[in-house]
Amino acid sequence: MPFPRTLRAALLAAVVIGCPTLEGLARGDVLPERAEGVADYRISVTLDADKKQLHGHETVTWRNPSTDPVSDLWFHLYLNAFQNSKSTFMKESGGQLRGDELPVDGWGWIAVDSLKLADGTDLKPGFKFQSPDDRNADDRTVASVGLPAAVKPGESIVLDISFTAQLPKVFARTGYVGDYYLVGQWFPKLGVYEPAGLRGRATSGWNCHQFHADSEFYADFGSYRVDFTVPARFTVGATGQRQERKDNGNGTVTYIYAQDNVHDFAWTASPDFVEVKRRFEAAREVSDQEYAAAARQLDRPLDQMRLRDVEVTLLMQPAHLPQVERHLRAIMLSIKSFGLWYGAYPHPTLTVVDPAFGASGSGGMEYPTFITGGTSSLINYRPFTHVNVPEEVVIHEFGHQYFQGMIASNEFEEAWLDEGINSYATGRVMEEEFGPDATLISFLGLRLSGRDLIRLLYSPEARFDTIKQPAWEYMSDSSYTFNSYHRPELMLRTLEHHLGPQQMARAMRTYAERWRFKHPSTEDFLATMNEATGRDLRPLLGPVLYHAAVLDYEVGPVTSTPSKGAPGYFDTPKGRTLTTQEEAEKAAAAQKPTFDTSILLRCRGDRAWPVEIAFKFEGKAPERIWWDGSERWKKFEFHRPEKLEWVDIDPERRLELDVDWLGNARRVEPDRRAAVRLTSRWLLVMQQILTWVGL
Ligand SMILES: [Zn+2]
Repeated sequence: MPFPRTLRAALLAAVVIGCPTLEGLARGDVLPERAEGVADYRISVTLDADKKQLHGHETVTWRNPSTDPVSDLWFHLYLNAFQNSKSTFMKESGGQLRGDELPVDGWGWIAVDSLKLADGTDLKPGFKFQSPDDRNADDRTVASVGLPAAVKPGESIVLDISFTAQLPKVFARTGYVGDYYLVGQWFPKLGVYEPAGLRGRATSGWNCHQFHADSEFYADFGSYRVDFTVPARFTVGATGQRQERKDNGNGTVTYIYAQDNVHDFAWTASPDFVEVKRRFEAAREVSDQEYAAAARQLDRPLDQMRLRDVEVTLLMQPAHLPQVERHLRAIMLSIKSFGLWYGAYPHPTLTVVDPAFGASGSGGMEYPTFITGGTSSLINYRPFTHVNVPEEVVIHEFGHQYFQGMIASNEFEEAWLDEGINSYATGRVMEEEFGPDATLISFLGLRLSGRDLIRLLYSPEARFDTIKQPAWEYMSDSSYTFNSYHRPELMLRTLEHHLGPQQMARAMRTYAERWRFKHPSTEDFLATMNEATGRDLRPLLGPVLYHAAVLDYEVGPVTSTPSKGAPGYFDTPKGRTLTTQEEAEKAAAAQKPTFDTSILLRCRGDRAWPVEIAFKFEGKAPERIWWDGSERWKKFEFHRPEKLEWVDIDPERRLELDVDWLGNARRVEPDRRAAVRLTSRWLLVMQQILTWVGL
């Protein structure tokens, strides 16, 4: 919502046109009800549980959303990432991703068996693999096909595709382990034809990247209707709402699921799932006071705050049954918190899958209306019951229903819009639930928050990559993770401290409303935040987003010594007289003692933010002043009766983007610095341990 500028403009307009009341003026963007559908999929697929294969047929209807005729179509064939060791994904990942390894001989692939227009015209002769990102001729994760006639602007084309897929053993989000299946990235899927102007594009064209190690996905909205046939003993879950369950009388069952306004479809099957159903009843889960508080915080009318009921299905592993209530509580909390802050969750269902043992590669993943959690049997037992990881994973993956599910950014090119904003939003929910110091662990005095953890991972190395850059062009896996998840989270937390929680919440709400069911870019985010806050945030955020700028304040030399008086020649009514050093010191000692204090503050990083400085003089309460941070260094000098005790830059540690807080404070008494040095050594040791365990 454009606040406060809109409010000011509305007031002005009301005065100018003589309108006596502001009632009826919109105070926020209206939450879009639906997406403008571009790609609709009707898919029919059968699982061969012996061979771990899929046999599928799909009808794809694609509408040309641009003003140009389009004469080819580009597809993703994601499962070919696992075809062999020469795929781009395998070369980049080395068969390892986030602590998981591709199981031996766990390869998978997808083949397009036939490709026709609805009238039967065979398109297969014009089908060819493409590798737009790295020219790797062995990569088969993207293909294009020429069309006999261009699709005119606004017109649609219907394709008939048959395909076969070999599922990989679970790795990088998809596949099988034993009888557990998590079927994601599994069907031939169109890329996004971006019209000129979308995400700042100069000319229209396909955006269809290869499957990379460090990247997720990007697709257009549409409606999906999928039927899948599996052995009758399986329990299943999928994107969308179940329409039908048909017993085929031959030991198999066909399930039909459908969902509008989504950009992907995933499903799962396993005989072991324990299915738990629970309804999110908005009227019961959210009190009138909570609605009123949220409406006040966001300056929205109450009727824009109302949440909707959601049918929740939790598919749990039997070994994790003691954690059912913890999962359900996290799900309910997510639907409520994200709904109140960023607009109601619009879909009627949510399915949450608890992956099987050995299938962690399929955990912690998001698809529209369908997410996977991540826990372990250890969490059933004390003291691990105090570790909030299952909650964190569920809340984070649910958050993706907003940041990427509805606000469908391009994860290949601007992953932070998805992972970074969602990490910030996840952190807020976790802090509200568990308290700011203990979002991850609180046990026997040990408290660890997500913020502590990411600060430990923060180092000057962060300067080698930027937040906004293609996901496959990071120096390393950890640089991708830091710059896509953690650094944007620190940036947004710092921004929240800068703007204040209310203005930040309002601006984020406006962003979430305006870009729901659309494809925003980093520039769209900046423009929306500027408009919503009425400030130009570009000088603060631009360098962090685009130039890997690092913020690092430190206290330089500090002295606070008794004044030595004023020796030298002085012009007096009696003429020029000399005050010797001894006389000057004597005169100073005769008066109340005074101290000369000098403090040098430095900005070691690439840029500075406005920052608060606290000074503490003996016998006085701490005093605070603001430094706008526009210079590389600043010297403060005082001549006053009290000696300085300490100085502290950003005493509340609100500039979470500051790469190193160890240099932020200094005591004048030198003996106290030993403690600081010890702390710094302890932090370094912790950092090293975390690196070893791969966090
Ligand atoms: Zn994520």
